[in-house]
Amino acid sequence: MQAPELCYVNIGLDDFDALRYGCTTHLATYILNELLKSFGNNILLLDYPNLVRLNPSIPWKTRGNGAIAIRLGVPCEYISDLQILMQMLEDLVERYIDIFLNEFDVRTSDFEPGLVIARHPLPTDLVWLYKKALTDIVVLDQNFVSKLVRWGFTISQRYGKRGIIGATAAIMWMYRDCDYTFELLTYRSKKMYGKRRCIDEESVKVFDSLTKEESFNNYDYKERRVLIIPRGPDPILYGVRGESPDGVKKALNIIRVCEPVAAWTVFRSNQATDDHAVYRVVRELNPYKTCRIRGIITSKPVIVRGGTIIVKIFDSTSDILLAFFKPAQLFNIASSLEIGDYVEVQGHVKLWNNLQVVHVEKIVVLNASRAYKCKAPKCPRCGNKMVKKGFGKGYKCESCNTVVFNPVLECMKVIRNVNIALSLPPPHSQKHLVKPIERYGREKYAYKYEMLPVVNATKVLEPLEFL
Ligand SMILES: [Zn+2]
Repeated sequence: MQAPELCYVNIGLDDFDALRYGCTTHLATYILNELLKSFGNNILLLDYPNLVRLNPSIPWKTRGNGAIAIRLGVPCEYISDLQILMQMLEDLVERYIDIFLNEFDVRTSDFEPGLVIARHPLPTDLVWLYKKALTDIVVLDQNFVSKLVRWGFTISQRYGKRGIIGATAAIMWMYRDCDYTFELLTYRSKKMYGKRRCIDEESVKVFDSLTKEESFNNYDYKERRVLIIPRGPDPILYGVRGESPDGVKKALNIIRVCEPVAAWTVFRSNQATDDHAVYRVVRELNPYKTCRIRGIITSKPVIVRGGTIIVKIFDSTSDILLAFFKPAQLFNIASSLEIGDYVEVQGHVKLWNNLQVVHVEKIVVLNASRAYKCKAPKCPRCGNKMVKKGFGKGYKCESCNTVVFNPVLECMKVIRNVNIALSLPPPHSQKHLVKPIERYGREKYAYKYEMLPVVNATKVLEPLEFL
């Protein structure tokens, strides 16, 4: 029998995180497994589900700001009318929210969910959207919505709030062929929600050493800390990040947990890629823009409230303040900066009492300025040590009043204790998008799309305990 012709659709989801105990990746796992039940082997994935992190500095977003895109191949007859698929998805989402509402008494007042569907090929007119939503602010207005409709997007009427920006941006990530990583997320069983996570620390170290070249940020040996478990009340048990689906899936056999794993899903993601760190000049900066800038330090480091260090940086267009927060590393390097150092920083812009400040997440000193220390000259008449009288006023001998304007000085280069290597905060305080040191040199530049069975990307192991 000939296989039916497949048509391709993209489903975008964003901002379902505000449900306590819920999160968008968990919802995506639920949806995928329900679609698999309905369509059976008639559906295939065009890619692992995408977990697309967007602008981390947007004030109304939770810390993660992650949206989801699911790319499916389905027999064309199923999607001749996208409204039917939309109806099906809305029913699934509603059921998901209902269960959480009834069983866990969550609030849903402040969430702004978005659910959209788009056919292939995606409109090239929207290529800019992912990058803009990653590095800046996209305004949701009627104009934007009517554009989406004109370009063939189907927007959910029930879940058509601000999240449609993230949902659409996640779908459009497909057009940005650049670095990516994978994350395996495992989910807890319902009865464990809110309880302490139980995971064997030694097995995390074993996983880390067995996958050294292909995973990252599993364990912090310096602080003896497991990095793969979230601290919040969300349904995630643990998440491991790496370079390939097979690499991260190894965790399922190696990491030992003392509670049931109800389900797992492998996501392809822009996490840990620095994709948000776009080069800008200082004059281009605005609040909530992410950036990477190069410039010269023009002020001494000053410590302000809470121990944050502030310095000023200047490029050929303008100057701006940089803020370095604790913990350590970045803080140490910031305090050793000198006027004249040429640095590159990445971060995002915030407003402090109407003043723009770059919150720095990474710094590299490209060229440390030279510092000199000069000995005071001796008086040519009596041999006493002379004293500097201020700028342009030369040196004066206090015992015979001789003044010399341009003495020959004996100067020494000061050895500066400045670290010119790249500096990042410790792993547990790195944001999702920040590329960790281990990933330098592992960057990938294109993804090869291949059809894969849904069960290669996600599995519900304990249906009664999953939802
Ligand atoms: Zn003298």
